[in-house]
Amino acid sequence: CGIVGYVGRRGGSAGQEARYNGHSALDVVLEGLRRLEYRGYDSAGVAVITANGIESRKKSGKLTNLISELQARPLPESLTGIGHTRWATHGGPTDRNAHPHLADGGRLAVIHNGIIENFAELKHELAAKGFEFASETDTEVAAALIGDLFRGAAEGDLAKAMQLACQRLEGAFTLLAIHQEQPDVVVAARRNSPLVVGLGEGENFLGSDVSGFIDFTRRAVELGQDQIVTITAESFEITDFHGRPAQGREFKVDWDA
Ligand code: GLU
Repeated sequence: CGIVGYVGRRGGSAGQEARYNGHSALDVVLEGLRRLEYRGYDSAGVAVITANGIESRKKSGKLTNLISELQARPLPESLTGIGHTRWATHGGPTDRNAHPHLADGGRLAVIHNGIIENFAELKHELAAKGFEFASETDTEVAAALIGDLFRGAAEGDLAKAMQLACQRLEGAFTLLAIHQEQPDVVVAARRNSPLVVGLGEGENFLGSDVSGFIDFTRRAVELGQDQIVTITAESFEITDFHGRPAQGREFKVDWDA
């Protein structure tokens, strides 16, 4: 029910603390999820890109359950991450059904708000190709589809894989994806579900609404219907589902958080 994404600028030498402006991706994402709690949810999860690839933690119940899990099994610092609070629609509110959902052998992490209406048909198609699913969610089907396209027609380009996947998905979705082979990028898409970019200096943010990044920046860009955005620490690029350049609506958040 809530979504957050973050990319900060890479530090200089290897081994340098993965923080930008004092932010690590995990701190930003957890703060965003806390701000988004008002929307209601039954599970929460995060994924970050570390030197060893994608790592994720997810738990049913309140954010405090996720925080306890992170204390028991800490994540290394990172400059790219995503976070999710779930309101279960397909599959009960269990740890396993919580987001993120991984695909492409654990190299890709996906979070989703909304409902993929044609997930059963897509699941059938992917299962016939040999895919195995770990959850009952519609979201994991979208993750598997993006992973399959990343390896196939999109040739290792996450934004392209998202475009091709969105051409097949029906329903309502805000989707965020990270892939360890493009560690400085978060790709997001929306249809019938909200998505906002937060613009920082040397860092950029994504949220299902501005609460997701209100503690860090007041400059925002709202995406239009059927758009995809790719953020890096220094840039954001918006297209439609066919890769054609598109425009969002830039605005300043003027309310007090
Ligand atoms: N349909 C997805 C699920 O049940 C996402 C629900 C949500 O918007 O949080 O996992």
